Amino acid sequence: MTEKKSYFPYSEYLKKIYGEKVYKLPVNLPVTCPNRAGGAGGCTFCAAAGTGFEALPPELPVREQLRRTREKVERKYKARKFIAYFQNYTNTFLPLEDFTAYVEEAACERDIVEIDISTRPDCVSREYLEVLRSLRGRRGTDICVELGLQTVNYHTLKKMNRGHTLAEFIDAVMQIRAYGFRICAHVILNYPGDGMEDAVETAKVLSALGVDTVKIHSLYIAKNTVLCEAYENGTISLCSKEEYIDRLIAFLSYLSPDIAVERLFSRIPEEDAVFCNWGTSWWKLRDEAERRMRERDAWQGKYFHYLGGAALRK
Ligand code: SF4
Repeated sequence: MTEKKSYFPYSEYLKKIYGEKVYKLPVNLPVTCPNRAGGAGGCTFCAAAGTGFEALPPELPVREQLRRTREKVERKYKARKFIAYFQNYTNTFLPLEDFTAYVEEAACERDIVEIDISTRPDCVSREYLEVLRSLRGRRGTDICVELGLQTVNYHTLKKMNRGHTLAEFIDAVMQIRAYGFRICAHVILNYPGDGMEDAVETAKVLSALGVDTVKIHSLYIAKNTVLCEAYENGTISLCSKEEYIDRLIAFLSYLSPDIAVERLFSRIPEEDAVFCNWGTSWWKLRDEAERRMRERDAWQGKYFHYLGGAALRK
C-alpha cells in the first residue's frame, strides 16, 4: 500500500503484478446456482439475473463476449491486458466438461492474463481446481477464485439463506490455497442483523486466512427478491449511510494492509433496485468515506496487530 492511500486499491495491486493497468471483462455463462436450483430459494438478496444486470446474453460464445467488451475498453482506456471474469451465478456448478471448455476458450483469447472464477464456498472441489491448474500450467494464465462469504456471522448467513456457513468458506479457502491460486472474498457490511462487531470480525477472519483481495458491498435491494418483499413490508430496515461508512472504516482498519480492496460500495442499475446506496452515487460515497478516513486519521491495517500471538507481545 502506498503512503498516500487510505486503503490498498485493487488497481494498484494489479499494476504491481502485471506492470500496467489491467481490466476485467465479464463473461456470462448459461449456468445457475445450487442455491437457486431445486427450490432452495436462493440468497434473499439475489435477483433472477444474479449479478449480471448488464451482462451479455449467456448464449453468446465466450470469445464473442470477450471481444465485444474488450473493444470498448481498448478504445476508452488504451488497455492491453485483460482478465476474463466469469462473474455471474456459480460457475463451478457447470458440468466439469463444460466448465473446462469455457475456461479454455477464454484463455485462448489474446491478452488474457488471468481467469477469475466466481463461485460459492460449497462449490469448490479438487476436480475443478485441477482443470484450472492444468490451464495455468499450459498457458501461464493466472487464476483467481472469487468466493461469496458476505459475513462471518453464521446466524446472519442463515437469515440470508446462503445455504452454507463459515466452515465451508474456510474449507474452500484452504483448498484453493493448496493450488496457489489467488482468492477474492465478497462481503456485505450492512445486512440487517449484522453490526459493527460483525464487520470487524469479518475483516479479522479474512486477514487470518490471508485472502488476496476483498470486494466490499453495501447491501442493495434488487426488485423481485425476498429481501425486496421484506423491505417493502417494513419487516427489515437498513442502517444509515453514516453507520455504513463507520463500519467500512472499522473493517478497513482491522484488515491486513496486504489485502487489496476492489470496491467499497455496490453498483446496480437504478431501474433494477428499490434501494441502492442511499440514493447517492457510489463515487460520491467513496469520496466521502476517504475524506472521513483522513479526518479520523484512519487507514487500512491501522489495527492489524491481533495475529501471531498478540497477547504475548503486551
Ligand atoms: S450464491 Fe450467488 S447466485 Fe447463488 S443464490 Fe446466492 S447470490 Fe445468487
